[in-house]
Amino acid sequence: MSRLVVVSNRVAPITEGEPAAGGLAVGVLDALRAEGGLWFGWSGEVSNDAEPMPNPGRDVGRITIRTIDLSRKDYDEFYRGFANGTLWPVLHYQMGLARFDWTEFAGYRRVNHLFACSLAPILRQDDLVWAHDYHLLGLAAALREAGSAQRMGLFLHTPFPEPGVLMTIPAHAELVRDMAAYDLIGFQTEPDRTAFADYIRRHAGGEDAGDGRLRAFGRAFRTGVYPIGVHVAEARAEAELPANRRQALRLRANLHGRGLILSVDRLDYAKGLRQRFLAFERFLIATPEMHGQVIFMQIAPPSRSDIQTYREIREELEGEAGRINGRFADVDWVPLRYLNRSFPRAALMPLYAEARVGLVTPLRDGMNLVAKEYVAAQDPEDPGVLVLSQFAGAARELEAALIVNPYDEAGIASALGQALAMSIEERRGRHAAMLDVLRANSLDAWRDRFVADLRG
Ligand code: UDP
Repeated sequence: MSRLVVVSNRVAPITEGEPAAGGLAVGVLDALRAEGGLWFGWSGEVSNDAEPMPNPGRDVGRITIRTIDLSRKDYDEFYRGFANGTLWPVLHYQMGLARFDWTEFAGYRRVNHLFACSLAPILRQDDLVWAHDYHLLGLAAALREAGSAQRMGLFLHTPFPEPGVLMTIPAHAELVRDMAAYDLIGFQTEPDRTAFADYIRRHAGGEDAGDGRLRAFGRAFRTGVYPIGVHVAEARAEAELPANRRQALRLRANLHGRGLILSVDRLDYAKGLRQRFLAFERFLIATPEMHGQVIFMQIAPPSRSDIQTYREIREELEGEAGRINGRFADVDWVPLRYLNRSFPRAALMPLYAEARVGLVTPLRDGMNLVAKEYVAAQDPEDPGVLVLSQFAGAARELEAALIVNPYDEAGIASALGQALAMSIEERRGRHAAMLDVLRANSLDAWRDRFVADLRG
């Protein structure tokens, strides 16, 4: 069978027991562990050399890892610049936070070419190339230029915005033309796929041949919807494993029977943290009888902290957390616990299981694996309630959650009240319905369907 070659911006540290924060790393690692293959990407190192040499390959089990370093200029223009300063905010509909610079866009394309030039010589003829995410929209085009004729697929973990939003990026036409060099483009949800197809039809002079097949720029290629999932049984097993439960037991002892509302997000402006803090404040204003009865814990590991917009959101949240606690705390109760650190994924599962409410309210999210992990980790006999943003990809599947608009602070506050008061029968019913969906769309199903479609 053909070898699977996974390409992603970062190659995660593949050491057992280390946290792999980020949905992509988790999904990719599983795919490779199951099939074996090559994983290619940036090492995470920024080199002082203007043109760093590729690092020596290494094998971890059946996975061969090949990495390259980036130069400072590549890092600034590609990673901090176009990928995270332009694409990330626009793909998440946060155009006001995006900047654009043609030099950075040229740097983005240059790094896609750098990846392609390092990868092309080590590809075998019948390899399947599976690229991931918004950093590599131009990889297939660059590989084709380098003479590679393998089948190439892209899975976009982020949302794909409506054409009018995408077109706020001055280089939108170049970007989409590059994407059309893939044979298969996978999206998290149907609205993402439809938005891409709309762009191809209305703005790229292309055609929609039905059944996910598109034609544009003289090429025919396919699109499909592959919602990324979680390992359902493993999540529950990890939640119950004594070795994972140390923190959860300390937390339980310290809660003294108070209801726990839990949120877990990378510290990112698209996660809706500020609106969520304000919604919790509204909840406290509206329900004085709940003071002393409930605790909201926000786990938010810092991310991309060398980008200005990320430093700003961090400062803002610290201010809001301090203000809300200052306003409502009592001698024996602090309502909001804000933890600016990451936890190993296995240790999160028992924490999810302790929480009466999982509060997941991104302004936009491709999928949001935390929402799915929260559901999977619950005790089916006494499950907590998921409150979920309508703008997370996961809301397409987890319809039995309490669905909220993340911009509606009063709506979130009222959903919190509803969740905390929900009867055990209703909680079980909603949880069982969501678990059925999670089992049908598991992480294995995601990988198998994408790889099968890429094989064609
Ligand atoms: N995660 C983790 N430790 C943390 C916070 C998050 O391992 O301290 C994991 C979490 O379990 C989930 C992933 O990081 O698997 C986050 O994926 P999600 O799709 O929710 O968001 P992303 O960070 O990819 O935008």
